[in-house]
Amino acid sequence: MTGIIDKTVLISGASSGIGEATVRELAATGARLFIGARRGERLAALAAELGGDVAWQELDVTDAANFEAFVAAAEARFGRVDVLINNAGVMPLSPLAALKRDEWTRMIDVNVHGVLNGIAAVLPRFVAQQSGHVVNVASIGAHLVLPSAAVYCATKYAVWAITEGLRLEHDEIRATIISPGVVATELGNDITDPAIAAGLKEWRKKSLTPDAIARAIRFALEQPEGVDVNEIIVRPTAAN
Ligand code: NDP
Repeated sequence: MTGIIDKTVLISGASSGIGEATVRELAATGARLFIGARRGERLAALAAELGGDVAWQELDVTDAANFEAFVAAAEARFGRVDVLINNAGVMPLSPLAALKRDEWTRMIDVNVHGVLNGIAAVLPRFVAQQSGHVVNVASIGAHLVLPSAAVYCATKYAVWAITEGLRLEHDEIRATIISPGVVATELGNDITDPAIAAGLKEWRKKSLTPDAIARAIRFALEQPEGVDVNEIIVRPTAAN
């Protein structure tokens, strides 16, 4: 392993948390980075801080045409696309009985359609070049369900299944699931139920920092072409 990643890597949800940490981690590897999220001002500041081969464009993953334009812009900027990290996600938790249909829809749109839109944008290119790597950030919530997290977990089970399906259908394309446990980020800041927001704060007392997930993503990317890291689950210990 050289520590050098000579690839063009696209990252969604790069304006905060795990996405931002992944940008910082990969910038140190020499990878060419094309980063997206809706908050362009944060992306601009990050790209300016890191300099070098970090370019950005505003991205709403729920908009298929917008995602296609994002991938096309990365290709125009760097000549090719090698890796897509589908990291953008939202988690407005609530019990089912609260019937927060708008929040269910938003989670399904960002967490599931967003991942599918990203795959749709890169897949024809990856098939044509007979190589490519899709890294999907799922969650420990792709393996277990918690009260008030039924819809969120459903979206992450879906991400798990989509990634596994991609892997099975395309032997020439690497597909990696990253499943973090609790990480201290802005995720869930939009929870509208005060009791659940307080519960999340309690959970976060034992949490990872986002760089732990960034290192797991880097590990998957650094493997030789013939090695596909199928899934990495990363959870905090009491040492945090
Ligand atoms: P953050 O809230 O810090 O980051 C979420 C990112 O997603 C932001 O950059 C946000 O950018 C972006 N995003 C949200 N909606 C959209 C959209 N429509 N289009 C484009 N980007 C969007 O949370 P995390 O870093 O924690 O989350 C990253 C991923 O990790 C998510 O998929 C999350 O589900 C997953 N995860 C997180 C865990 C945790 O405990 N934190 C645990 C397990 C999984 P912007 O608002 O600028 O668009």
